[in-house]
Amino acid sequence: MIEACEPGLPLELDAIEIDGAGKWVFPGLVDMHVHLREPGGEDSETILTGLQAAIAGGITTVGVMPNTSPPMDTPESVLNLKRAAVRCGFANVVPVPCVTRGRAGREPVCFHDLRQVGAIAFTDDGDPVHDSGLLLDALDAVYKFDGVIIEHPEVTDLAGGSVNMGSVSEKLGLKGIPCAAETADVARCMEIASNSHGHLHLTHLSLPRSVELARAECFHSADVTIDVTPHHIALCEDALMEHGTHAKMNPPLRSPEHRKNLAEMVKSGMVDAIASDHAPHAPCRKTGSIEEAAFGIVGLETLLPVSLEILRGLQMPVIRILHLLTCGPARILGIPAPSLEAGRKADLVLFDPEAEYRLSETGSFSKSINTPFFGRKLQGRVEAVWIGSVVYRDGEFAN
Ligand SMILES: [Zn+2]
Repeated sequence: MIEACEPGLPLELDAIEIDGAGKWVFPGLVDMHVHLREPGGEDSETILTGLQAAIAGGITTVGVMPNTSPPMDTPESVLNLKRAAVRCGFANVVPVPCVTRGRAGREPVCFHDLRQVGAIAFTDDGDPVHDSGLLLDALDAVYKFDGVIIEHPEVTDLAGGSVNMGSVSEKLGLKGIPCAAETADVARCMEIASNSHGHLHLTHLSLPRSVELARAECFHSADVTIDVTPHHIALCEDALMEHGTHAKMNPPLRSPEHRKNLAEMVKSGMVDAIASDHAPHAPCRKTGSIEEAAFGIVGLETLLPVSLEILRGLQMPVIRILHLLTCGPARILGIPAPSLEAGRKADLVLFDPEAEYRLSETGSFSKSINTPFFGRKLQGRVEAVWIGSVVYRDGEFAN
């Protein structure tokens, strides 16, 4: 428990004192977009390894995506995830079940039944909700309990490539994914959200134009929030030349100009949250050609240092960056805002902003290693995390 948060507190005799001079203490981060792969993809990640990786990254609350096998679309599957997370005893989970049964895009799930077991947010992530009528009905349905529909914006008829359509796709001779594959769906979603009171969240926006559409004055009546990933503000399509399949994700890394302008938009306050889109894949799905490889990268352990590197580089105040990783996503998911108030259950991070290190395959808790950020010099390291009775310090768990 946090008993008090103020200077000059008396030290009890049996207390452990930690010198935090020059370090930061903040509430545990909320990552609203995480693929834990269990059930069905345990060779890539398990609930246990994913939640450990989250803690190591300073993340104590994880929004869990439903594209498992089978997909999370029933009250029972939501309860299974919750029970498994309690058994593991690391980060908190916020289950985000499907919008449609089997994530097949045809019939809606029973929102009411899923609400009864605590679900507030719903998504078919990995795919968009193609059926516009169904999307509108879903927004109206979740409005009744202040829920949210999270859309993965993509017009799949326009996708079908493996990298951004541009100089790198040309150089590598690969089919490109045009910007319109994302922006056309953002435009469709904004029109639909304007016709409902329901809350729509557009996730992993990778293009400045998408953000502009989501924030356009003509859509001011729509209740729409948005997030971006650290990789879309840190890297551009050129990373494919160096990192190959470890820089392949959906939406793809875009042009240098897109990357720069997207980061500027985060700085200027147009974005509500930063989320990792942690997408672990076993090595067999990331070897071979760029065309054959799966989309996605792991991101729990680099969410914070990469976001800080890019946004502090733009002179964005740290407190505002942390907001996008705590209160911003918490509000979208409808959970209490993280806080260091006295009386709250311990849920906090000790962070050394000066420490420099390189994350490596062996130093990571995730079961998968598909990331272009291994080997990159990262500044700022999670030194300790306290969440309930769990203590993580200097790279190890003790509970
Ligand atoms: Zn997605």
